[in-house]
Amino acid sequence: LLVGLALVFFALALWLSHYMSRKATIPVANAYDRQREFVADASHELRTPLSVLMTSIEALQLETGTESDPFVTRVLDGMKEEVQLITKLTGNLMHLARSDSGDSVLEYLPFDLREAAISVVDKLQPLARAKEINMEMHVPDELRVIWDAEKMMQLLVLLIENAIKYTPTGGAVVVTLADITVKGERSLTIEVRDNGIGISPEALPRIFDRFYRQDKARTRQTGGHGLGLAIAKNIVEMGRGTIRVDSKEGEGSTFTVRLPLAGE
Ligand code: ADP
Repeated sequence: LLVGLALVFFALALWLSHYMSRKATIPVANAYDRQREFVADASHELRTPLSVLMTSIEALQLETGTESDPFVTRVLDGMKEEVQLITKLTGNLMHLARSDSGDSVLEYLPFDLREAAISVVDKLQPLARAKEINMEMHVPDELRVIWDAEKMMQLLVLLIENAIKYTPTGGAVVVTLADITVKGERSLTIEVRDNGIGISPEALPRIFDRFYRQDKARTRQTGGHGLGLAIAKNIVEMGRGTIRVDSKEGEGSTFTVRLPLAGE
């Protein structure tokens, strides 16, 4: 009887531990999914009120015009900047939540990457000029690729914007695109080089982490939340490519992306 009881007890304990471990793992997985869904939904819901807020600020700016009280002008400019910052943050959170759930995929279509890269650099030129940064670009005369044009431009913007942001006045940023075919395998190399503040050896392994920033105190000045490189890495990984950084504090950084390309 005792052996029988011990066996029943043992079987019960085994079943209980199995049940508990299932109970413990299922809610954890669900909690993660729920959190991801919450982030995706919350950022989506925030988009409309934010754009309404932005339109209202712009309407007020138009209404008050150039002769408005300097205090009012300053307050409105400050409000606009904050709304822009939150809008960017919600867009970035939505991108990451979507890619975590596997909802985000690349849309491979043929496009002229030379033209796209030139338009990105032209768009960011005013940012560079405001800091007297000399921005150069080297791109082949002919560069047609089959890739996701929107994501490619997003990737270029993220890397070039960072190069400008983290380079002091008077510096230089060089963007190079190369189309290389080795043993029949075509690939694209994107290199964004700056001679800016560089990245410390401690920060280097962490800069692609979400919300990681080398200098947290600068969020207000540089307008970032530490999500840009996480998104850049995510885009590169969706295209089965690699991204790496070489950097020396005080000397500058070079970000290199390699992406496999389908031949056209
Ligand atoms: P953010 O720029 O919004 O802070 P990112 O994810 O784009 O976020 O970058 C993470 C961190 O990596 C930055 O805060 C900065 O410390 C560092 N970093 C990124 N690009 C550069 C660069 N070109 N030069 C120096 N530091 C950089």
